[in-house]
Amino acid sequence: MIITISGVPGAGKTTVGKILAKKLGYEFFSMGDIRGRLAKERGLDINQLNKIGEKEDWTDRKTDEYQKKLGKRNNIVVESRLAYHFIPHSVKIFLEVDPKTGAERVMKTEREDERYESIEETMEALEKRMESDRKRYKKYYGIDFPDKSKFDLVIDTTDKTPEQVVNIILDFIKNKYSS
Ligand code: ADP
Ligand code: MG
Repeated sequence: MIITISGVPGAGKTTVGKILAKKLGYEFFSMGDIRGRLAKERGLDINQLNKIGEKEDWTDRKTDEYQKKLGKRNNIVVESRLAYHFIPHSVKIFLEVDPKTGAERVMKTEREDERYESIEETMEALEKRMESDRKRYKKYYGIDFPDKSKFDLVIDTTDKTPEQVVNIILDFIKNKYSS
């Protein structure tokens, strides 16, 4: 089985994906990491790569190829916005979160490439990023993101711990594959 995890920023995709993979004994892949490596190979940082990605499509195409290859494997969890599209036979999960809570979570994480002064600023930056991604997905793939009807399971993580979210996914998989 392949499980793909899509969703909005701060919904807990990485956190949930890692715990889920560990519980299932699966290998975990994160497209953020893959893009980071792609940038590094070219002597760029992730922001520079994203910037190039707005004009040139090779940064996305490279990640797409990688995801299609992952689709041939088994027993993996893949965190990626578009993995549901490139690995259509996967169990497709979408994690959402109230925008303010998502921003609070991202702000607390203080990623090196993502540091903001206030919740408002964080919310605005995340919304902008989503909008930019949405446009790219539309332009390059003709995808309306996020179209929730494309997913097997949509979970609002706002009032849940990562462990609760993982258990919901595990229950869903158990029910789906036990009959
Ligand atoms: P995403 O990959 O969806 O952007 P992350 O998994 O990186 O989100 O989580 C962002 C931050 O929020 C991390 O600091 C993480 O520990 C925290 N977090 C994730 N899920 C939850 C949750 N359900 N409840 C509270 N905090 C969470
Ligand atoms: Mg993540």
